[in-house]
Amino acid sequence: MTLDILYGNEALKSTLRGFASRKAFPNAFMISGPEGSGKSTAALLFAMAIACKGESRPCGKCESCRKISEGISPDVITVGLNKDRKTIGIESVREITDSAYILPNDLDVKVYIIKNAEKLTAQAQNALLKIFEEGPRSVYFILLTSAPSQLLPTVRSRAPEIKTEVFIDKKLTELLISNVKKASELSMKDEAALKRIVSASGGSYGKALAILEGKNKKTPQLIKKAENIVTLLSEKDGAHLMLALIDESGERENYASVLSLVQNALRDLSMVKKGGDGDMIFYSDRALAVELSERFSISTLVRLTTALDTLCYEVTQTNINVRTAAVVASGRLTDVM
Ligand SMILES: [Zn+2]
Repeated sequence: MTLDILYGNEALKSTLRGFASRKAFPNAFMISGPEGSGKSTAALLFAMAIACKGESRPCGKCESCRKISEGISPDVITVGLNKDRKTIGIESVREITDSAYILPNDLDVKVYIIKNAEKLTAQAQNALLKIFEEGPRSVYFILLTSAPSQLLPTVRSRAPEIKTEVFIDKKLTELLISNVKKASELSMKDEAALKRIVSASGGSYGKALAILEGKNKKTPQLIKKAENIVTLLSEKDGAHLMLALIDESGERENYASVLSLVQNALRDLSMVKKGGDGDMIFYSDRALAVELSERFSISTLVRLTTALDTLCYEVTQTNINVRTAAVVASGRLTDVM
């Protein structure tokens, strides 16, 4: 495993190469980006680069690299949310503090990878800060998060942020076609279907791959649902809109996907409405998009998009009950129609 495993992400790779060539990695840093954008893979690559004994770090061949990429080095420790817990508490950080001072086993360093770092309680974050500052120089901390703004400012200032990249749809489509057999087959058989998968993935390579591999069987239904919601919005049909949203409110992830699909659809409508001729990301039929766009004013499309931004944020980044979120959503969307 070398840097090639991580698709795109040129800025992140260049940061990693810079640290590696100076042999100076910060003892604590943060890798941020949406779900499926490659944060965990990036963290392993950084851990390899920190521990690597080869020339061009991470070489992917030395024993340290090999052990880390196979997940068998006891010195690369992943910490995350425990089952049934909503936060990462002080007790998890105490375990880190206790073990950080014990010498590494088979590497020269220890690397702690903390997933879902935004779930660290304030107390846990403060305890971490202390060890960032006072811990051994051979111990490194990599915080992974999709919501960096929810971490304490003190932690953010102490752990520089390195962002993973969400692909723009066209780039992601090309990447999938050139790397995934199923995607290249699909692009020849049914190009529109591939476009929809890319749209449903929200720009995430990992998510697009999961849909392609059939791990997310619900995608076609979600796309239909999104199409239906756009139609209801165009008809200003508040009552059915509420039903459509509530019906999908059982699962947070599906609900968030529908909202983001609707956002993509509205993005297409705004573009054709303004006479743009760029690539469509949701609709495969431009004539249909043009026809739908005529039912909205530009300002309504803008207001709907803004409202959806907020709703998406609430559903993915807060603990709001999904059913409640759906009711709130239908109210807010009806207000701006
Ligand atoms: Zn190596």
